[in-house]
Amino acid sequence: MHLPHIAPDRLPSVLHRMPKAELHIHIEGSLEPELIFKLAQRNGVRLPYPDVQALRAAYAFTDLQSFLDIYYAGASVLLKEEDFFDMAWAYLEKAAADNVVHAEIFFDPQTHTARGVSMGTVIRGLHHACQRAHQEWGISARLILCFLRHLSEAEAFETLEAALPYREHFIGVGLDSSEVGHPPEKFARVFARCRELGLHVVAHAGEEGPPAYIWQALDVLRVQRIDHGVQATCDPALMQRLAQTRVPLTVCPLSNVKLCVFPDLRRHNLRQLLDAGLCVTINSDDPAYFGGYLNDNFVQLFAALDLGPREAYQLALNSFEASFVDEATRRGWQRQLKDFFEGLREHD
Ligand SMILES: [Zn+2]
Repeated sequence: MHLPHIAPDRLPSVLHRMPKAELHIHIEGSLEPELIFKLAQRNGVRLPYPDVQALRAAYAFTDLQSFLDIYYAGASVLLKEEDFFDMAWAYLEKAAADNVVHAEIFFDPQTHTARGVSMGTVIRGLHHACQRAHQEWGISARLILCFLRHLSEAEAFETLEAALPYREHFIGVGLDSSEVGHPPEKFARVFARCRELGLHVVAHAGEEGPPAYIWQALDVLRVQRIDHGVQATCDPALMQRLAQTRVPLTVCPLSNVKLCVFPDLRRHNLRQLLDAGLCVTINSDDPAYFGGYLNDNFVQLFAALDLGPREAYQLALNSFEASFVDEATRRGWQRQLKDFFEGLREHD
């Protein structure tokens, strides 16, 4: 495809308007301080922060663990079905405005069931928001249940059991939370069970953890996508495997900088991953905490790495290739994307 030259100041508009999918977003990580305070008030929950400003000021993490501490405090205001609805609704409204046409959304039921909230409350609230957003804005949204890897595999099995009555409301399972010290192989049996059940399987690996965790996610958990995976560039054999199999990586640039995986965006290895032929995608991870939603990630990364329309097209194309939708739907979106780029003019 011939792509016109796009002036740098016009690029953000192109990134904004192109249709795309988001595949790595933790719904609890989309809770903005304003909504946390609103829900705290509605539910009579006392927060360890006096106001919205104090909570925002506390978002100065240095690593994954210091982030997770605040993340779990924020989630404590979620008690009723409508709270989960409101949280997902707020994210989907922003995603639709970013021209995200399809979102695969992670949720962490154990964060809620541990506080006495039922699985049904969590899943029904999130599911209704996905349904309504589809009616309202045409955005397609699916849920992926994540196991917290700092907990045991037995607890993951219990969570899976509790979620099975709602099987039609989620399409897959993932693995998130503190990576280092909790290798994928810890969850080998529960992932085998999920595969038997016909669930899609993904896992966070190689964010802070070593390439060995990515190998394990591929060979032991047999995942269909790797979440993050940026440490793959330390291992040439792994890079080759990922390029050959096109197992996608869901990369989250602003998250990587906020959690000090890279010192700044200009040092991010996205271009290296792309040039090596990997199916990399751009995602927001925990947008309320990491300083931006999907388009913020695109715009800031493109400016930092001096990327252009060719990379934009490839990354959006990858996001559809990597999504868990049927072939006809995927092709439809990819055609829409191609039409968008073919219709671009120099001064667009
Ligand atoms: Zn994540």
